[in-house]
Amino acid sequence: ASPSGIDVEAFAARIRKGERAALARAITFAESRRPDHQAAARAMVQLLLNETGKAIRVGITGVPGVGKSTTIDALGSRLTADGHKVAVLAVDPSSKRTGGSILGDKTRMRRLAHDANAYVRPSPSAGTLGGVAAKTRETMLLVEAAGFDVILVETVGIGQSEITVADMTDVFVVLMLPGAGDELQGIKKGVLEIADIIAVNKADGDGEARAKDAAGDYRAALRILSSQSGAWTPEVLTVSGREDIRLDELWRRVLACREAREKSGEFAERRAAQKVRWMWDMVEARFRDRLAEHPKLAERVPTLEAEVAKGELAPTLAADEIARVLGF
Ligand code: GDP
Repeated sequence: ASPSGIDVEAFAARIRKGERAALARAITFAESRRPDHQAAARAMVQLLLNETGKAIRVGITGVPGVGKSTTIDALGSRLTADGHKVAVLAVDPSSKRTGGSILGDKTRMRRLAHDANAYVRPSPSAGTLGGVAAKTRETMLLVEAAGFDVILVETVGIGQSEITVADMTDVFVVLMLPGAGDELQGIKKGVLEIADIIAVNKADGDGEARAKDAAGDYRAALRILSSQSGAWTPEVLTVSGREDIRLDELWRRVLACREAREKSGEFAERRAAQKVRWMWDMVEARFRDRLAEHPKLAERVPTLEAEVAKGELAPTLAADEIARVLGF
């Protein structure tokens, strides 16, 4: 048992057996702000490390309204019907402002919410994108240890969060809306650059022809943008999350992407690099936390910031002084 009375060994054993209540508690510890809870979660992850890493980790992004929850609900249900255990996690840095996460909400994924072989977890809500991501990474390892073999990590198609999620997953899927002509303008180049698969959603009924047109535009855009020289060339297809059209094909492409990367060795390299980056992210996060709380800085920073803002002090010199105060 740890100092806080949390029996991490017992927890780890229960998670290994796939006990959902234990898994949910462990994730709550990982997400907690309490240092003893965080320490317990870390100890559990360490105990379970051998059971982690076996799932396929898929990032899914797209602007609000593109059909992420509809598509994940349908795709996830397909996968559980095929015998998979599917965890849906979310990275939503905006959730700290709204006080609740808009992603990974159980009411948005009705079928999966009642599926015994699925586990839907909303985004952790505390802190910065980095903090939210770190917690989601720990959660990912915990659900893997509990036997989930497919992990879908959902994020919104705004801001920096896609890059963060692409950096913790094996395959990155971007959902797009039909009507590319205008759409394409609004899409950040960066998103296309990190997409392994672009799925133009709502390719049903009247939307089908427009979705096909959009897919053509995205294929052309990818040919121009894609500087990827890896084992996988990004692909574009049309799907309908609502009508469950070509979601089987989407999943086949996801598996094909992973297979290509496994064969080339990129998969193992990517996983290894992700772990090392996670370590450094944690270190940086701790430094930032300590910085924010540093008593000597608390006195100096407001003046330094004001002087820098007014142009009286060079930012470089101010940074020097902060480093000096910190003893670097
Ligand atoms: P999210 O915000 O990306 O999670 O999007 P939702 O899954 O909540 O879907 C937004 C809206 O688009 C809802 O009204 C859905 O019913 C609709 N929608 C989602 N997928 C499809 C689809 O494949 N075809 C059509 N026609 N509508 C869809």
